[in-house]
Amino acid sequence: MSNIVIVFDFDKTIIDCDSDNWLIDELGFTYLFNQLLPTMPWNSVMDRMMMEFHSHGITIEDIEKVLHRIPIHHRIIPAIKSAYALGCDLRIVSDANMFYIETILKYLGIKEYFSEINSNPGYVNQQGRVRISPYHDFNRNSHGCTNPCPPNMCKGLIIDRIQDTVSELDNKKFIYLGDGAGDYCPSLRLRERDFVMPRKNYPVWDLICKDPSLVKAEIHGWCDGEELEQVLMKLINKIMMDEHAQYIASDCNLQTLPIPVLESLPNPCRILLA
Ligand SMILES: [Mg+2]
Ligand SMILES: [Zn+2]
Repeated sequence: MSNIVIVFDFDKTIIDCDSDNWLIDELGFTYLFNQLLPTMPWNSVMDRMMMEFHSHGITIEDIEKVLHRIPIHHRIIPAIKSAYALGCDLRIVSDANMFYIETILKYLGIKEYFSEINSNPGYVNQQGRVRISPYHDFNRNSHGCTNPCPPNMCKGLIIDRIQDTVSELDNKKFIYLGDGAGDYCPSLRLRERDFVMPRKNYPVWDLICKDPSLVKAEIHGWCDGEELEQVLMKLINKIMMDEHAQYIASDCNLQTLPIPVLESLPNPCRILLA
């Protein structure tokens, strides 16, 4: 194991679209969805949409087939596999839902690479209907965060919990990747030794650019799956090289050192904000 924890958002980060919008558009329910959206929280609309799908005779198999066709950049899976092979601890924090994420990751054959998936509960009930519920039950009490987090999920609180569960003694370094406004809160929770990879010209990027000094972690942007892979590999390599140098400095046996790899990667066209 390396000392690197990589936390991925799911929609528009691992996959290249929003999974809710993809499903609704592909099944032809865009009009109804747009009518319902102003009347209740997004998460509640999606549970209602699942009821609509069910009452229109759309089966779980139909939904799964649409999810299996979801767009993903061809470099994302190799990036995930490489990070895993280098000993990184991979996790997902997503405002989609467990049903979509597990369906998609299983189909792509990459579910086992992740040690933890944090998302809104989603399951198939006895009637064969998908039920989606909020991660935080906002009807009982608010998560209380003032950042632009949706009522059903504050990803910052989830990052706090992950940071608390990994040992401080191991000096773990986090790399957080995301695109949305909900990815801003966790970006603010990262420390100086961590890294944030916001998707360029997406909401989290715009929020960070307003005042980059609020983010303690090093900021490295990416625009597509190819650049995500290049930047991620570069960062993993850099962190491992630093550890390697410290290891030598602490006068250990050179023979037993893990050799950092991927030194021959092309330079990513990264943006490092001052
Ligand atoms: Mg996203
Ligand atoms: Zn928050």
